[in-house]
Amino acid sequence: MRIDVISIFPEYLAALELSLIGKARQDGLLDVHVHNLRDFTLDRHRTVDDTPYGGGAGMVMKPEPWAQALESVAGDRRPVLIVPSPAGTVFNQAMAHELAAESHLVFACGRYEGIDERVIEWAGESFDVRPVSLGDYVLNGGEVAVLAIVEAVGRLLPGVVGNPESLVEESHANGLLEYPVYTKPSSWRERDVPEVLLSGNHGRIASFRRHEQFRRTASRRPDLLEGLAAATLEPADLTVLGELGYDVVGGVLAHRYRSAEL
Ligand code: SAM
Repeated sequence: MRIDVISIFPEYLAALELSLIGKARQDGLLDVHVHNLRDFTLDRHRTVDDTPYGGGAGMVMKPEPWAQALESVAGDRRPVLIVPSPAGTVFNQAMAHELAAESHLVFACGRYEGIDERVIEWAGESFDVRPVSLGDYVLNGGEVAVLAIVEAVGRLLPGVVGNPESLVEESHANGLLEYPVYTKPSSWRERDVPEVLLSGNHGRIASFRRHEQFRRTASRRPDLLEGLAAATLEPADLTVLGELGYDVVGGVLAHRYRSAEL
């Protein structure tokens, strides 16, 4: 996969040289190029921003440096252009899988009040443009979003994570949060690892972990359980979910009391 990142703070992206993503680059699985937007400016001050039409606080990123920078990375196969923005579609694991199937991602890191909107419209001629948000809060720039998205997407590429099994068991892989994990020692500061994990009984361990997934998801992210298709669940799952207050209504999970409140 080729990745191009355009930013006025290329140093910010140095973190992409570390850990599994850095190793994937060394192994030739990821081809990452970081570009300084200021290299595409037209004046000696290397200006990238100007005052907003219509007034208001802050500055807006000028269109021409963006056009020049994007033209330099466009290629002829309509790459996906991700524009980090708090006004974008919220990034999640399903989107990470979708992006992992692409061969070329380009990221346009906004700063200030964002990029002149005409750039986003114009870029649609050569890119598959996707405004993407990291969540419902406002960052100072798109670089942190790029680090998060590249890490989430990169680890899904074959060969990046040593044991592909670890991707199957993780939070969000099957619509649930991951079960709690423990390591040695089995007793630590008067806290013991759940006995079942020491039993060596694979069947019991698997069902303990699955039940813990339901408990944790129900307590921390009940929105993930609401509407889950019952067809994906085993009878034993439905018993645990029943204890947690979930019934099957019209083929999907619904919380007994919360749905009654609505
Ligand atoms: N004025 C913009 C708005 O209200 O939508 C916010 C601009 S923000 C200060 C500057 C840049 O940070 C944005 O252009 C975007 O690149 C990035 N950014 C801020 N919050 C983000 C988020 N939640 N997800 C992704 N990128 C974000």
